[in-house]
Amino acid sequence: MGTPAFSSRRPANAAQPGAGTAALTDALHRPLRDLRISVTDRCNFRCTYCMPREVFGPGFAFLPHREVLTFEEITRLARIFVAHGVEKIRITGGEPLVRRDIEKLVAMLSAVPGLHDLTLTTNGALLKKKARALKEAGLQRITVSLDSLRDEVFMAMNDVNFPVRGVLEGIEAAAAAGLHPIKINMVVKRGVNDDDVVAMARFFQGTGHIVRFIEYMDVGTTNGWRMSDVVPAAEIVRRIAAELPLEPVEPDYYGEVANRYRYQDGSGEIGIIASVTIPFCRDCTRARLSAEGKLYTCLFTDVGHDFRALLRNGGTDAQLAAFLQSVWRVRDDRYSEIRTQETAHVRPKVEMSHIGG
Ligand code: SAM
Ligand code: SF4
Ligand code: SF4
Repeated sequence: MGTPAFSSRRPANAAQPGAGTAALTDALHRPLRDLRISVTDRCNFRCTYCMPREVFGPGFAFLPHREVLTFEEITRLARIFVAHGVEKIRITGGEPLVRRDIEKLVAMLSAVPGLHDLTLTTNGALLKKKARALKEAGLQRITVSLDSLRDEVFMAMNDVNFPVRGVLEGIEAAAAAGLHPIKINMVVKRGVNDDDVVAMARFFQGTGHIVRFIEYMDVGTTNGWRMSDVVPAAEIVRRIAAELPLEPVEPDYYGEVANRYRYQDGSGEIGIIASVTIPFCRDCTRARLSAEGKLYTCLFTDVGHDFRALLRNGGTDAQLAAFLQSVWRVRDDRYSEIRTQETAHVRPKVEMSHIGG
């Protein structure tokens, strides 16, 4: 026993969207439920799969501060999005903890009526310093990225020589502050850190934290992605289950991105985000707001809808709402489902560090 069949994403009894809200739905009948807000395009890491140093070097033109949305602008948009069905907001980046006074934004967003879930994704480098302030400001949960437990591998991947210990201290501080359970994101790249998958699962087993193994994706155009670099989800599950017996868990909610598995001995669970080998576009309820206020309806598009222009040109709430409706109603993105088609490879895409994961 031990190796579960790798199931397709959606069980027949997964919760359906729209209960209780006048749902805004897109062209493929998908509601708007999640908003990821990038608060900066800057980062203190140079992960080779996200912001390769050759591209994001000293000469790279990051957004000037005046072009980045203020906390007031972000919060105003968040209210409008929540009124249109958004229940969950994830603060991301770039690295969100390098944005000055980020806990103030957390406090402002956590006061938005109707928002059920406020979370943040970080590389963890500044988390030891920030965890308590984030919790006190109203952050409910946190996701910390960590790609290996071995310094030589992790430092090569973050490319700024940041040690594993620093991230683990951030995770400990977050847990001590009450941001529990913590999700740990590990991007798995063949020949780079795939041998660390079982060690990562074992390390966090029994801690209450949930490791989520992420298939390396072809986001943006700078990371030199090749299909042969991807370790398929089924292989990740097989490798872990061979040592730590697993069984599948039903999704918690409609639109959940991770396939969940629990340890058969009851010592916790893991998630697998299989966006390459098992696309989940048909349940995709996510919108992404870039640091300069453009809305992207898919991770794999270069078309951003400019909310900042409307915000700064005196747009009313009604005009902002109408703009959101006009964008979402015609949305028909499903890149992951058509990735293998010829045209998908050549289309321009926004960088992950620009709109967050
Ligand atoms: N800087 C923060 C961090 O690293 O957690 C937040 C932003 S980062 C873009 C969000 C998530 O996207 C991280 O977990 C990161 O590992 C993941 N990510 C970045 N590039 C990726 C890629 N090419 N494929 C899969 N995941 C990726
Ligand atoms: Fe920075 Fe996160 Fe991208 Fe790494 S994955 S370069 S930490 S934004
Ligand atoms: Fe959503 Fe686009 Fe990813 Fe499909 S490819 S799941 S539409 S973000």
